[in-house]
Amino acid sequence: MEKASFKVNTKSVLEEKVLDWNLVQKSFEKSFGAEIYSSWLKNISLLKEYNDYVILGVKTRFFRDWITSRYADRILSELKKYKISINRLEFKIEPDGVGTKTLFSNPATNKISDIKESVLNYNRLNPNLNFENFIVGKSNNLSFLSAKKICSQLSRYNPLFIYGGVGLGKTHLLNSIGLELSKNNNVMFISAERFMYQFIKSIKKNEMVNFKDFFRKANVFIIDDIQFIRGKEGLQEEFFHTFNTLFDQSSQIVISSDRAPNKLDRVQDRIKSRLSGGLVVDIGSPDLELKLKILRKKISDYQNSFKENPDLNEDVVNYLAKYSNSNIRELIGVFNRVVAFGKMSKNPLNVNDCKIILKDIYNNSKVVSIDKIQNATSNFFSITLDDMMSPRRSRPLARPRQIAMYLAKKLTPRSLPEIGRKFANRDHTTVIHAVKTVEKLLENNDELRKNVEELKSLILSD
Ligand code: ADP
Ligand code: MG
Repeated sequence: MEKASFKVNTKSVLEEKVLDWNLVQKSFEKSFGAEIYSSWLKNISLLKEYNDYVILGVKTRFFRDWITSRYADRILSELKKYKISINRLEFKIEPDGVGTKTLFSNPATNKISDIKESVLNYNRLNPNLNFENFIVGKSNNLSFLSAKKICSQLSRYNPLFIYGGVGLGKTHLLNSIGLELSKNNNVMFISAERFMYQFIKSIKKNEMVNFKDFFRKANVFIIDDIQFIRGKEGLQEEFFHTFNTLFDQSSQIVISSDRAPNKLDRVQDRIKSRLSGGLVVDIGSPDLELKLKILRKKISDYQNSFKENPDLNEDVVNYLAKYSNSNIRELIGVFNRVVAFGKMSKNPLNVNDCKIILKDIYNNSKVVSIDKIQNATSNFFSITLDDMMSPRRSRPLARPRQIAMYLAKKLTPRSLPEIGRKFANRDHTTVIHAVKTVEKLLENNDELRKNVEELKSLILSD
């Protein structure tokens, strides 16, 4: 009996052992080498330690992304040397001098300003996201013009509904509208998520009257990422009433969403119909020309603010634009990463350097062809290519076929119909089914996961 409890104690003591961060840092230096250590790892701080994971602090998003993409696995195994129970890392961005602000810190403020303070804290208009630095191309021209238009003619189009995929500039445009109009109007700019937070908080504190008053005071109401209300009945109810009140008093309403109004499933029909009752415009993916324009602007911004050249030659700029995914946020991230790296290297970067630097983002996807995937896969599973492409459904053929389709989706930029055509003219729904099946198997089937990983690295390695 005593023995048993002794055992339990030892275990828990061992697990709660506190990491000696200085010691860990020393072992980082030893295992990663002085250069990587001093460039990337030295400034990581230990913010919080739990039994099975730690929260590490880094100064910027760029650092976080860099460290997680290249060193996270090794950092984890170093930590495990000191504390075996750790199996996960989390990173938190802790810029210098920014403490965590507490909400509602001033008890003397009245209730309306409680809400106001909270909204202002989280929904400040960002002066850097304005019309002047929004680069216009084919894909966003209409949204841009519409945004400008409502600024000169309030309520001409009401509501203005802008939709498009992630990282394409929706928040940037909404923010620009807010900046422009806040000169002469009472502008409320809030994300749907924050709107909900405020809403729930007000219900809990019995302050719905204040909530309503506060939001309905705006004569310009801008709400970002409205798709967030999907499936949330209570929130939709409140939003509907807020919308109607604002609309009736001719307040300008601007909304962004990741999809068109009619595609907002689990949203009440009456809301969808209100949302599409004004002007609906979409922001599309940038074409090569727009991506180049954005990169050129970034280069000149860089020159202006740092008084030096980012040293990217034309080939590199073209490479970044051509092979980036259609996401402007990512394009800018890639630009920053390449410039930062270039500044640390002795010679100007060439395209090959960029390929290495961006390997985890671009995943070399554009150099892998579907043919290559098909050949490698059939070889790997020791079946003939003909058999793999044939309509036969026996598992030893069907499984490799599905894996090849899955890899084609993951490693190439080809669309589902294109992939289907490459697989003996199969329908795109067959490809979807294959991708889903493999994804599911990867979750629970260790052997298959190992095989797919191995095959993938074979394909990517040469
Ligand atoms: P979304 O809200 O659609 O996900 P954001 O508005 O947050 O996208 O844009 C992502 C990033 O790309 C931001 O840094 C934004 O400033 C930048 N960006 C997007 N579109 C443009 C553009 N046309 N010109 C300049 N920067 C842009
Ligand atoms: Mg956004």
